[in-house]
Amino acid sequence: MPIQVRRLGKWAEKDRPYKWDKPSIGILTSPIGVQKIEQKWANFPIKTNAWMLRGKNVWKKVEIGRVNEDFLFKLGLKIVDNPQKPDELNIDEDAINIIFTQNVAGERVPFTAGIIAHRLGHAVAKYNPEYREFTETVQNKAGKILREFFGIELSIATYDLNQESMNILKRFYEEIGTMRSARNHKLRAHFEFPHELIAQYILTGGVKFNPLPRKILSHYVFGRSQFRYKHFGATEEDYERLNQELQEFANDLNRIIKNLLEDSVGGIFAM
Ligand SMILES: [Zn+2]
Repeated sequence: MPIQVRRLGKWAEKDRPYKWDKPSIGILTSPIGVQKIEQKWANFPIKTNAWMLRGKNVWKKVEIGRVNEDFLFKLGLKIVDNPQKPDELNIDEDAINIIFTQNVAGERVPFTAGIIAHRLGHAVAKYNPEYREFTETVQNKAGKILREFFGIELSIATYDLNQESMNILKRFYEEIGTMRSARNHKLRAHFEFPHELIAQYILTGGVKFNPLPRKILSHYVFGRSQFRYKHFGATEEDYERLNQELQEFANDLNRIIKNLLEDSVGGIFAM
């Protein structure tokens, strides 16, 4: 079921950008750009309506999460069955309805199929309490593997990780993750990884992990990389066991993400 990408508000050439960056405006105003997004989303089974709203002051309403119809009226929008005008949209009960009000907060990358999927992850995170469980599940699994194979204990004071643990976690995710941001070691922070998993699920049909790495970058000393290899005592059997655990974990995550996204059907999100 393809995503429906529509524009709302002021998208004429003479209009001010209103916090939409130039590359994104280029993508969203070109039929080929929109078509590319729709093609990449083609296998996602949940109908998704993505509305790109551009206009004065609307950009201030960013990363809100789940909203109601009243919120849309306050943005100057009208809900109709068959939208034709730049201020009209329809809301489907059987779809995920999401309105993006700008693209400068947060990610600072152009509005491609991937970033729409990623930001849908943020939208889910904002409203669904089970999202926190999902991120904790990911972090706990990473923590277990780091402990049992590398002998690294993530330092957790209350809920927050300390800086070193955040760095190690980010690097570990960049090793096991198979999406572009991980491959290029461009994961913005460890907490972006769950959003990237959701995006991967949407665009490819499922989460996939690399084989468990045998070493990870742990820190830099005087400009040189320091790697942590498997810890003393971890055996080849441990490697096989933990790698299998990691690969099977992808299936668990697919079930969790499927539920999170299905829970979003009928909702209206403003991001
Ligand atoms: Zn993000």
